Amino acid sequence: MRRQVSSSGLYRHFLTRNLENGAEKSVRALNSSAQFSSTSRFPDSPGAPQIAHPDRNSGTSQGLLSFFQPVRCLDSSARPRHVDSVPRSSVIETRRRSFVATAGNEKGPSKKCWACEHDILGGSGLFCPSCDGIQPLDLSVDHFTIFGIERSFKVDSKELEQRYKSLQKKLHPDLMSSKSQKEQGYSADQSSHVIQAYFQLLKPLSRARYLLGLHGIKVDEEGTIDDPALLMEIMEIRESLEDVSDAKELQKLQAQNALRIQDTEKVLEKTFAAGDLKKAVSWVQRLAYYNKVDEEIVRKL
Ligand SMILES: [Zn+2]
Repeated sequence: MRRQVSSSGLYRHFLTRNLENGAEKSVRALNSSAQFSSTSRFPDSPGAPQIAHPDRNSGTSQGLLSFFQPVRCLDSSARPRHVDSVPRSSVIETRRRSFVATAGNEKGPSKKCWACEHDILGGSGLFCPSCDGIQPLDLSVDHFTIFGIERSFKVDSKELEQRYKSLQKKLHPDLMSSKSQKEQGYSADQSSHVIQAYFQLLKPLSRARYLLGLHGIKVDEEGTIDDPALLMEIMEIRESLEDVSDAKELQKLQAQNALRIQDTEKVLEKTFAAGDLKKAVSWVQRLAYYNKVDEEIVRKL
């Protein structure tokens, strides 16, 4: 049976698991070596009543509990329809075929220009290289290809923005008035898809999820966190946030968290470059939590 994850439950689960393994020492070591100083109230002894008491959570705000709520990892376009029915685990392999859905066209999108029948393979798939006609949306073309940039976690945001603006100019409705209804429809589809792709690649967290999605990997942040160091860190951050309502203190916490985000993104850059997708999954989980922490601080400010 799946355990309902709550903040106190999560921590008790972690402690219980470690106690069962006779790992009290490692809990203490993790506690003292946590890289973020805070006003943590973690006891040295895992058996301390404030942790074990079931009512300890009664004063916790809903917002803080939301750190432990599920986080969607793939957006609707990148998320295979069957995802909700697959078993939960930290990494779920999905078939690439599912990822590149063809929007109801079982034979897949045409690779010939609908207007002049010229071959449209090789480019972004948006325009015909011969007649410049706007093509129907082809979801098998990945976001990096749309913008003509390298498929990597490291993205030059200025270059991405320039290419995005250039595409949007070409798809602008003002340019479509002389076109057929058919092409105007393709243009509207492509335009909204380009916007969605741009924002997905712009933010490091969604870009990382998207990259993993391209490899058929879904990060299940709803599942149990296996990394004890991350678990301890989350609890410490949560405790420190609970204690603070002063704006200056919150800003200080926000600055600390921004550094965590920055460092995590640097690690992800190296991890993706090395092709270590398993490691990337755990760092994406971490980045997702730090982003949630930032949202929580912003709410409290
Ligand atoms: Zn054409």
